Amino acid sequence: MSYLGPDLDPPQPRRGRRRALTVATAALVPGALLGWLVYATVGDDGGGSGEAAVRPSQANTRPAAPPTDDEKPSPSPSASDSAPLAGKVVVVDPGHNPGNFRHTAEINRQVDIGTNRKECDTTGTSTNAGYREAEFTLDVARRMRALLEKQGATVEFTQDGDRPWGPCVDERARIGNKAHADAVVSIHADGAGAGQRGFHVILPGKVAEGDANTGPIVAPSRALGERVAGAFVRVTGSAASDYVGDGTGLVTRQDLGGLNLSTVPKVFIECGNMRDSKDAALLTSGAWRQKAAQGISEGIVSFLRG
Ligand SMILES: [Zn+2]
Repeated sequence: MSYLGPDLDPPQPRRGRRRALTVATAALVPGALLGWLVYATVGDDGGGSGEAAVRPSQANTRPAAPPTDDEKPSPSPSASDSAPLAGKVVVVDPGHNPGNFRHTAEINRQVDIGTNRKECDTTGTSTNAGYREAEFTLDVARRMRALLEKQGATVEFTQDGDRPWGPCVDERARIGNKAHADAVVSIHADGAGAGQRGFHVILPGKVAEGDANTGPIVAPSRALGERVAGAFVRVTGSAASDYVGDGTGLVTRQDLGGLNLSTVPKVFIECGNMRDSKDAALLTSGAWRQKAAQGISEGIVSFLRG
C-alpha cells in the first residue's frame, strides 16, 4: 500500500468474484468535453512504453492542441461555453514527493490527523523496475492541470516537485481547505501484490474526532468519487480493483489524514498497482497516463457541472 510503503503492505485477500462496476458509469460527460479528448502524443517523457499516440476514443473527436505544463487558460468572449469551470477551484494533490526518500527523518515525524497520529508522509511505492509512484503522481497531476485549466478552472497543487520533501498529510489537507477548493483529488498508485490489478477511488468515511470532522464532506466526496471512477473506467478502459472494494472501484477509509482533515470534497485515486507487471506496463506509459489524467479530469468536470 502506498501509504505504508511496499514492505509494510498487509496481505490483501484475492477476490475472485468480479461484478459489474456499480459506480456512476452514467456519469455522462457533456458533449462539449469530447472536444478536449486529447491525443496522448504530448508530454510522453519517457515512460518507456514506446507508445507514440493513442487514437481518439470518439470518431468525431478533433485533435486538440497539445497541453503543456505552462499552458494557461486563455480568456474568451464566450466564457460559459469555452470555460465551463470558470470560478471553480480544483486542488490536485500529487501523492508523496520524489525527494521523500532522502528525508526520512522529516517524513517520519508524526502529525495529528484528528483520529490519531501518523507519519507526516511516506515515500510511496514503485514498479519493480524502479519507476517511482512520486514521479507518476506528479506527471498525472501536471497533465490534469493542463486539461482542467483549459476548462477554465483554477488549479492549485499541494506540491509541484518544487520542495525537497512532503508536504505532510495534514498540510496537504489544509492546502485544499484554505483554497476553498470545490474539489480535491489526491493522485496515487498502489503497491499491492503481483497479480492484483485495477484502480480504486478512496472516499472519506465519517469521522469526528480532534480536528477531523468529515460529516459535511462524506456525501459530496462520494459524488465526486463516483464521477471520477466512472470517467476513469470509460476513458482508460481499466477495471475496478480486484483486491479491494468488492468490484465497485470505491473504498471508504477513516485512517487517512489527507481525507480526515479535509473540509472540502476530496477523494484519493489509486490508478493501478505498480507491483503488478501488467498494471505497471500501463502506469509507465505516458500515453496511458494521459488517459488517466483525462479520465480523472472528466470526472471532476462532471462533478462540478452537477
Ligand atoms: Zn501513494
